[in-house]
Amino acid sequence: MSLVVVSNRVARGKPNEPMTGGLAAALLPVVEKTGAIWVGSSGRVRDGSQKEPFAEVEALGAGALAMLDLPAAHYGGYYEGFANSALWPALHSRADLIRASQDDYASYREVNAFMARALLRFRKPDSVFWIQDYHFLALGAELRDLGATQPIGFFLHTPWPTRAVISGVPHHRELIEAMLAYDLIGFQTDEDCENFLSYVRDDLELAVQDGIITSLSGRTRAAVFPIGIDPDRFAQQATKAMTHPDVTRLRRSLNGEKLAIGVDRLDYSKGLGNRIKAFDRMWTLHPNLKRTVSLLQIATPSRGAIEAYGNLQSEIAKLVTDVNGVHGEVDWTPIRYLNKGFGQGVLAGLYRTAQVGVVTPLQDGMNLVAKEYVAAQHPADPGVLVLSKFAGAANELDAALLVNPHDIDGMARAVAAALAMPLAERRMRWEAMMARLNNGTIQQWFADFIEALRDTRNPDKAIMP
Ligand code: UDP
Repeated sequence: MSLVVVSNRVARGKPNEPMTGGLAAALLPVVEKTGAIWVGSSGRVRDGSQKEPFAEVEALGAGALAMLDLPAAHYGGYYEGFANSALWPALHSRADLIRASQDDYASYREVNAFMARALLRFRKPDSVFWIQDYHFLALGAELRDLGATQPIGFFLHTPWPTRAVISGVPHHRELIEAMLAYDLIGFQTDEDCENFLSYVRDDLELAVQDGIITSLSGRTRAAVFPIGIDPDRFAQQATKAMTHPDVTRLRRSLNGEKLAIGVDRLDYSKGLGNRIKAFDRMWTLHPNLKRTVSLLQIATPSRGAIEAYGNLQSEIAKLVTDVNGVHGEVDWTPIRYLNKGFGQGVLAGLYRTAQVGVVTPLQDGMNLVAKEYVAAQHPADPGVLVLSKFAGAANELDAALLVNPHDIDGMARAVAAALAMPLAERRMRWEAMMARLNNGTIQQWFADFIEALRDTRNPDKAIMP
């Protein structure tokens, strides 16, 4: 079997490359050892490349990374348009932010079709395709139209919302019908999988039994595969990072004061505004916590060309300034706010330096930062995770202090409780969370999905040209 994995971007996995994410950690060794091919966009666009896809192919061990230039005429409509201004808000239950034109949808379908044509170049007779995420809901259907008979799996890294919310996406029915070209569709949580199946059952009026959907495209299995991390790697990186200049300078600047840390892309799903309001409330209710704890908030710029993201950037910057203005002192800054990205090698050391990790998204498919924060803690003196119950990670990390990200007072209380938590309780909670992380590593996730995909091999999917 030879595996072809497709995602929007390909990460080369350079140690200081920010945002390489979990997928790269799982995939790069598989590419290297088994000869898998990882295909995605190069981040560049090209005029007139619609017919003959241009890819830069880089060998990696037995396999390869293939980075494609996407068609210039359709990139904006595909990426900033339909994927991130219609699908992303809907998938995160923000129907109020859905913006999509007919042209954006057309571009999204064009890029999916373009990717399908490009993939045929990398196909071998025994290939299995595994498509990642909401950028490519229709890629399986495009591959079938080109005659692909191989097993095709799909994994959604984001949540899947209720029927009412997904119905706010233009062409939702067409897209979800197209998804039935996949043999296997993976979700992060039971709730996501159930929401999807209820649309299929009630809106498409298709038969569903034990997660198997029967449609004119054959059988499709929907199942849950919560994505994990490599906890050993994070623990090692955290130890190593303690001598990194950024980490030593941070520690020195704290002067024995405690630190809470937040690490997020600057995205409205991450609940940054409510988090900052919760710290404001905490310092107001407990003035003794001023100078005792500060917040380091890393907010990595993301999708800046989209209006909702530009608005968020100014809204959060203003909130931070207001809170610092109210609670700050000549020699004390309550919130250190950074609009840049860090490599995971440094992040691990920042996580370990902080006594509290605050991860409070309004909606999140999984949230890997929550898992990474736990894995980076020192076993003898672990910090406390304050985690939104609306992050997929809350299903496994139920030994965290779970909070409702809409309840500002509740979050303020949780952070104060985390700071006061005795060592014995911190260790108990941390050990329970580590057991879950070690049980569901990224390598295990990868192996489980591929095994399930082989088992769902479904020869009647084949539509011969
Ligand atoms: N990340 C990073 N550098 C940064 C901020 C984040 O490498 O400055 C990584 C982080 O370690 C994590 C990923 O980006 O692996 C973010 O994943 P998560 O699931 O938390 O959120 P997403 O951005 O995918 O919505």
